[in-house]
Amino acid sequence: MSLIVKPFAPSRLTLGLQALVSRLPSTHPQYLKLQKELKNKEAGDFGELYIMKELQKYQQLSDCHILHNVILPTVLPMQIDILIITPSGIIILEIKNIRGTVHFKKEPRQLIRITETGEVRAFTNPEIQLEQYILAMKDFLDAHDITMPIYGAIVFPFNNVDIYREGGELPILMGKELPMYIHKLIAQKLDIATDDLAHIILSQMRQMHPFPLCKFYKIEPSVLQRGVTCENCGQLRMQKLKATWFCQKCEHKCKEAHMSALRDFYMLVGDSMTNRECRDFLKIESPHVTKRVLQKLYLTSSGIGKHTKYNLSSLNGNR
Ligand SMILES: [Zn+2]
Repeated sequence: MSLIVKPFAPSRLTLGLQALVSRLPSTHPQYLKLQKELKNKEAGDFGELYIMKELQKYQQLSDCHILHNVILPTVLPMQIDILIITPSGIIILEIKNIRGTVHFKKEPRQLIRITETGEVRAFTNPEIQLEQYILAMKDFLDAHDITMPIYGAIVFPFNNVDIYREGGELPILMGKELPMYIHKLIAQKLDIATDDLAHIILSQMRQMHPFPLCKFYKIEPSVLQRGVTCENCGQLRMQKLKATWFCQKCEHKCKEAHMSALRDFYMLVGDSMTNRECRDFLKIESPHVTKRVLQKLYLTSSGIGKHTKYNLSSLNGNR
């Protein structure tokens, strides 16, 4: 079994977009665009999760470290989907879960996707991204006095795509080709110690900071639908009762229902909230009940009285 030192987690942008699309009225001018963006992000995450699961099955990776979603402080921006540290070198995988027909165009370098319905869309050519990540990784290794080969490949996880390519250097692989590709690289035995590098990378890891998304997408927070989402039926219909939350639609009860609403606020609106903002967003009538809800979370706060601002950063958008 290989060592998954950083397991798959949905990207923060996906989690934020899920919250945004669920709270944005469908009549909002940006709604359809964001819904599409969310679908693309979810498909991307799904492809990365699939490849992470496949990699775990490979016997040949038994003494390797596998990391999902790697962002390091480097001269050029870096966001690696999957990083494999092997005794023969580093492998950077750029995962593209895109359906339809795709053309890797040469001049200018673009990725053009045509869907089954004939819709045409241009994407950043993943080869440009991958070249940049390889360069950034080389720079990172240099800064830590580490020399080892760095390989990179673009991977289409599923056979749901027709790929056409004009030139280009870096390998483009289907998911099923990965075992052979990795096998060939690892066969060149270099016996590089991998534990130290895995440790350095983990200690330098950064996170993406897209929040608050209302600011990111220039959406007025007041247009968002208020309320607490029911985990059972998905409606914003949870009502605060004395000891629990109660869904007015499906009668589901949940004591912790407010947690996801507070995370939504953190991801969409801001990293701190007052009692009034909390009452408004969670649709609780009583300031006293709201105060109890907030105090139970042991959040750090600043200010006094009604100006008290509760810091939501510890909620962090993770579920
Ligand atoms: Zn419900």
